[in-house]
Amino acid sequence: MKSPRIAFFDTKPYDRAFFDADNRKFGFFIKYFEEHLGPATAALSRGFNAVCIFVNDVVGADLIKTLYKNGVRLIALRCAGYNNVDFKSAFGKIHIVRVPAYSPHAVAEHAVALMLALNRKTHRAYHRTRDSNFSIQGLLGFDMFGKTAGVIGTGAIGRELIRILKGFGMHVLAYDVRPDEAFAGETGFSYTDLKTIYRKSDVISLHCPLTRETYRMINASSLKSMKTGVMLINTGRGKLIDTRALIEALKRRKVGFAGLDVYEEESEYFFEDFSSEVISDDVLARLLTFPNVLVTAHQGFFTREALANIARTTLQNVDDFVRGRRLVHEICYRCSQSVCTRKTKGKCF
Ligand code: NAD
Repeated sequence: MKSPRIAFFDTKPYDRAFFDADNRKFGFFIKYFEEHLGPATAALSRGFNAVCIFVNDVVGADLIKTLYKNGVRLIALRCAGYNNVDFKSAFGKIHIVRVPAYSPHAVAEHAVALMLALNRKTHRAYHRTRDSNFSIQGLLGFDMFGKTAGVIGTGAIGRELIRILKGFGMHVLAYDVRPDEAFAGETGFSYTDLKTIYRKSDVISLHCPLTRETYRMINASSLKSMKTGVMLINTGRGKLIDTRALIEALKRRKVGFAGLDVYEEESEYFFEDFSSEVISDDVLARLLTFPNVLVTAHQGFFTREALANIARTTLQNVDDFVRGRRLVHEICYRCSQSVCTRKTKGKCF
């Protein structure tokens, strides 16, 4: 393939700035679309070799067929999570690559920003002092030092978070389907089961991918087993939490704080300005009414360093594809839903 033609979906001015800067090196033909990639916009992919998509572009089996018919042979996700793509259906037709770790620091630091803001209520203090209200009544927080944090998922982001929380002097408990005992030993935390995390943690932070197993892992039953007043932080994926169950737990004061960078039905709202519109999603609207809930619109990844890394890795992924090199960041169905392993040398199909 000579110079590939890439259709970028769901783009914003900040995406274009970073990708254009990096594309000077590659010289690919890039067409940016503001629209999400979906059944209604799939026709835009005609004549392109690759599509580049983001977290809320949902690519199911039918869309895969259309993309393939249109000549697309590569889906480049410019994100780490890949729950939005049916890569089983794509297998044998379209390669799928992602950016596995562009800045774990960005997301881990954002999780901590949510924790500290909720704990010390800086989001509320900001509004008070701007209104010349200097009362601190109702802003009482707690020391992070000595508290127990439960970290679910100790991959790139979970590890960074653990390092930061250890710096606060917190006790850290963690759960991962693939525990890294050596890292736990070096860092000074212990792995345990989910039940123990729920029972013992003052702060619980979610850093596992969204899979069949983790779908709504935070639900009425798991919430019931948590400490009263627990702080729940989700920078993973919205569907890790049953939001209606969380709202009930907030109303009963079981959950004391919730910091949510992701939301089950975020795709309709997040990344867009609805400040002059009516929010018709009653669950999201209810969440926004709680003083002890902080919602950010999937901005955990949003740092200069992360955007530069996303652009660099995504275009490098495309370049590897064009040159027939091993796709080191392929999401390979055959390699059990993970990065392509050396056994297949990136040539699964
Ligand atoms: P990673 O692949 O490095 O780590 C994920 C970890 O979760 C792995 O250690 C894996 O073994 C573990 N895991 C898998 N299934 C599990 C299960 N059932 N229970 C517990 N642990 C399980 O990924 P990462 O870079 O650390 O990212 C984690 C998640 O964060 C991503 O999947 C993505 O959904 C989300 N994310 C969010 C943002 C944001 O802007 N908010 C940005 C990047 C990633």
